[in-house]
Amino acid sequence: MMHEYFTSSELKNSRVRTVSQHEINPNGRFILYWMTACRRYNYNASLDYAISLSKELSKPILVVEAVSITHKFANDRILSFMIQGMMNNSRDFQENNITYIPWVEIKQKAGDKMLLSLSKHASCVILDDYPTYTPNKILRAAPKILKLRVDAVDSNGILPMMWAEKEFTTAYSFRKYMQKSLVDALQTIPAMNSMDGVEDNLSLTSDDLEFLREETNLEATPLEWLWRVSEGGTVGDRAMADFPIDHSVPAVKETIGGIDEARMRLQKFLNYKLNKYSIDRNNPDTPAVSGLSPWLHFGHISSFEIIEKVFDKENWSVGSLNHEDTGKGTRSGWWGTSESASSFLDQIITWRELGFNYAYNRIDHATIETIPNWAKISMTEHINDDRTLYSLEELEQAETHDEIWNASQRELVRTGQMHNYMRMLWGKKILEWSPDPETAAERMIYINDKWALDGRDPNSYTGIFWVLGRHDRAWGPERPIFGKVRYMSSESAMRKLKLKNYLERYAKEDTMTLAKFG
Ligand SMILES: Cc1cc2nc3c(=O)[nH]c(=O)nc-3n(C[C@H](O)[C@H](O)[C@H](O)COP(=O)(O)OP(=O)(O)OC[C@H]3O[C@@H](n4cnc5c(N)ncnc54)[C@H](O)[C@@H]3O)c2cc1C
Repeated sequence: MMHEYFTSSELKNSRVRTVSQHEINPNGRFILYWMTACRRYNYNASLDYAISLSKELSKPILVVEAVSITHKFANDRILSFMIQGMMNNSRDFQENNITYIPWVEIKQKAGDKMLLSLSKHASCVILDDYPTYTPNKILRAAPKILKLRVDAVDSNGILPMMWAEKEFTTAYSFRKYMQKSLVDALQTIPAMNSMDGVEDNLSLTSDDLEFLREETNLEATPLEWLWRVSEGGTVGDRAMADFPIDHSVPAVKETIGGIDEARMRLQKFLNYKLNKYSIDRNNPDTPAVSGLSPWLHFGHISSFEIIEKVFDKENWSVGSLNHEDTGKGTRSGWWGTSESASSFLDQIITWRELGFNYAYNRIDHATIETIPNWAKISMTEHINDDRTLYSLEELEQAETHDEIWNASQRELVRTGQMHNYMRMLWGKKILEWSPDPETAAERMIYINDKWALDGRDPNSYTGIFWVLGRHDRAWGPERPIFGKVRYMSSESAMRKLKLKNYLERYAKEDTMTLAKFG
């Protein structure tokens, strides 16, 4: 099916790159799509590509959604969210006659061996192109380990990552680039349903599956166990209890992974919040935001789907764009939508994809090396300034003198999410309360990647290094500790924002006292 806005598919040139130059193996039994980041059926460029290869080579497709537990932050919260997504995916792939195997590593490092074993029987391997954390490690390791053709496919955002030849250092310069590229980029969006119009049977036969079971020990993770984890509560906790993962980070009962939940939340956002986005986005008491970042992070919903729904609601077409302003980086008025929709599109395209652009072009994107020189110099000049110091444990347990900060940390620990404005303040205070910017960066990464459902994302590092001056400019007046790096304080947040309900909601459980600022 063709989209109303997304008009043709030049996928091959823009979203597919070959990461291992071997020839396609003509004797392979199937095309292997090892799913690591784009964990969904719809709007999946990897699947689109697998289907086009399948037609070309007359081979069936095997999709394995792999969940690794071999990473620093494997925990109950992340695992249960991913498995809930798998339950939806099992249904969607089955309904569309694609062989889909949900596969959870039961012991560390088993994934590498399984990928290698399966690849020996495949014609080629398709991986999701993702610029950070575990999916990126797999992508980098694959050409060294696998002895066949490996292609990486990018379903991350509207702008194919390979188009930009460099990293952009400001949202303004990236916005200019985005405006010039948008109309072309809309033509590279994968199909909503890649199987529409496909008559052939692309699934593996039961003989093929039996062969793989014998040769590689490939077994789908039992549905009954997946179901128990996805149920959550004590049933879910018990099901995960034997896994060698961090059980101190519990699943969040009310935040369920998968496309079904994402679509429900998206609809609520469109109905009740989008029209208030430009005014109430930064209101922690009643935030008019989508809350979709965890589903975006795990690829359960694509930004294409969200944007298409926003376009529909706004009766938008390419003709709505203010073409005279294209390439000028103007934030307001360019989209030709309501102010709220423009502001949302700016976040989900400009800001979100700035993170992908940066991570794709900078292998060191998660390090302090990426902050600008003026910020490095300025913070170094203030390194000996007096400061209140907290340990990592005190921060993690929300034990500071600042009840606003404590509330934001408790929000993160309890819900796996944090309101955007509070997140900025949260980071700025960690800088203020750490001995140096390097330690502040390490602490932000550790706490965010461990507790946040949307952590370990290119935008985790955009946000964290924004706190330290990346993608920002120098500000005056010069402040203690911060120097010229943008300063934020809880006192001014208390004055500017509506926080009463927020502070009550995230008060310390045993006291439920109001903040000292209240
Ligand atoms: C210190 C710090 C850490 C952060 N860590 C993360 C993280 O781990 N993962 C993450 O996805 N975002 C992170 N952000 C960016 C931002 O806070 C979240 O993307 C946003 O709050 C998610 O909420 P939402 O889904 O309701 O966003 P909405 O306002 O509904 O926006 C829709 C989508 O647009 C994107 N978006 C919105 N705001 C930003 C932004 N400022 N920068 C980049 N993309 C944005 C997100 O994908 C978001 O889901 C961080 C910001 C800071 C300051």
